[in-house]
Amino acid sequence: MNIPDSQKPRIVIIGGGFGGMNLIKKLKKTDYQVVLLDKRNFHTFQPLLYQVSTSGLEPESIAYPLRKIIRNQKNMHFRIAEVKRIDTALKKVRTDIGDISYDHLVIATGTRTNFFGNKTIEENAVWMKSLPQALNIRSLMFENLEKANRTNDPVKRKEFLRFVIAGAGPTGVELSGAIAELRSNVLQADYPDMDISEIEIHLIEGADRVLPPFSEKSSAKAQKFLEDMGVIIHLETFVANYENNRVTTKGDLTLDTATFIWSAGVTGASIEGFESTSLLPKLNRYKVDVYNRVAGFEDIYAIGDIALMETEDWPKGHPQVAQPAIQQGKNLGKNFINMEKGKDLNPFEYFDKGSMATIGRNKAVVDIGKLQFGGFFAWFIWMFIHLWFLVGFRNRVVTFFNWTYSYINYDKAARLIVRPFKQNKIIAEED
Ligand SMILES: Cc1cc2nc3c(=O)[nH]c(=O)nc-3n(C[C@H](O)[C@H](O)[C@H](O)COP(=O)(O)OP(=O)(O)OC[C@H]3O[C@@H](n4cnc5c(N)ncnc54)[C@H](O)[C@@H]3O)c2cc1C
Repeated sequence: MNIPDSQKPRIVIIGGGFGGMNLIKKLKKTDYQVVLLDKRNFHTFQPLLYQVSTSGLEPESIAYPLRKIIRNQKNMHFRIAEVKRIDTALKKVRTDIGDISYDHLVIATGTRTNFFGNKTIEENAVWMKSLPQALNIRSLMFENLEKANRTNDPVKRKEFLRFVIAGAGPTGVELSGAIAELRSNVLQADYPDMDISEIEIHLIEGADRVLPPFSEKSSAKAQKFLEDMGVIIHLETFVANYENNRVTTKGDLTLDTATFIWSAGVTGASIEGFESTSLLPKLNRYKVDVYNRVAGFEDIYAIGDIALMETEDWPKGHPQVAQPAIQQGKNLGKNFINMEKGKDLNPFEYFDKGSMATIGRNKAVVDIGKLQFGGFFAWFIWMFIHLWFLVGFRNRVVTFFNWTYSYINYDKAARLIVRPFKQNKIIAEED
């Protein structure tokens, strides 16, 4: 890997997501040698991936080069590397570009899509965990619109014009809302020779309401927003298979579609080399103490989505969203500084800032403790917070410009097929 041997204790961080990035920022003026490994050379702002796949934003606006975070820091190194295994006995990380030893290791690898063992869905559906995958969905949707436009077979056209999304968590809700807006604001004008009312958007959810982690009030409001926008919602419905362009469910519902987006669950992106006492097998998350130390180790930490910290307030661990990852990254950074100075470590305490989801123009829902509200004010807060947390001044400016332009003109920036759609499984393997 060509990392110099220094006399400084070496911290290896795997993953430059919300957790890893916030940790690294805290380590800038310390006397550690810090090595960041990530399989991509950029940080992805995942909450806005759905806007890339529905052509609301260009991919560059929600990504940030990892080298820019560590620039001008002589004690910090970055390598594009996919970590394959951790040899805890030898204190070595094994990657596709070679091995590296550590004094301290931080695992911040986040999650990957969970298909719950269903091979037909994994082979044939599309899903959205990375920028290449979001762009792949964009290509698929616009290719299908083109195919629908050039066929006179009504059955085939229906397949191309039906968009089916499984999972009505925030991602599924935001995606279906964005496709509904695309239909009413953009596609009508782009395809004047096509009957846009033929486009159907179906949202399938196993629970009895959309946005199951939110309050009932916000769920009901989000459902009403979606229905008003023409999204067809199927609650208490479980997808069984997706093959030959047909979605079958465990009930009577069957839908023929060329666009099936799976957003029904995630599992930890864990790395091999741990016993089940440290890496909880069903959840694929590392069990950590209040200092984010992985059970059974003094020198290995896990933060963010991949970590499971059971506390009195959070007996099942913290939610797998950005805030716990950001806060754990910052707290661990402070603890590394405390270790340098011989001070006591701070136990992690989660400050829950609430949840929010946007459904469309002037339509969002917000839950902050007992306070729940929806509509324009919620949408405004959603926009402000997402701009605030986007990494990089340039990204904030570009995103703000794009949103303002879309708001005024009822237009979307990037409805382009830059590269042809590939099966998502291939994209995931290449990615
Ligand atoms: C579509 C979508 C929408 C979301 N919307 C919201 C939202 O609205 N609000 C919210 O709070 N949260 C949202 N989340 C969740 C939020 O993005 C995560 O909780 C957050 O990213 C977790 O941060 P993390 O640092 O743990 O992992 P991540 O941010 O996922 O970062 C993990 C990093 O590890 C790298 N990596 C993984 N495995 C390896 C390996 N083996 N070798 C090398 N590098 C590796 C990855 O490339 C990545 O850079 C959303 C997630 C998705 C997918």
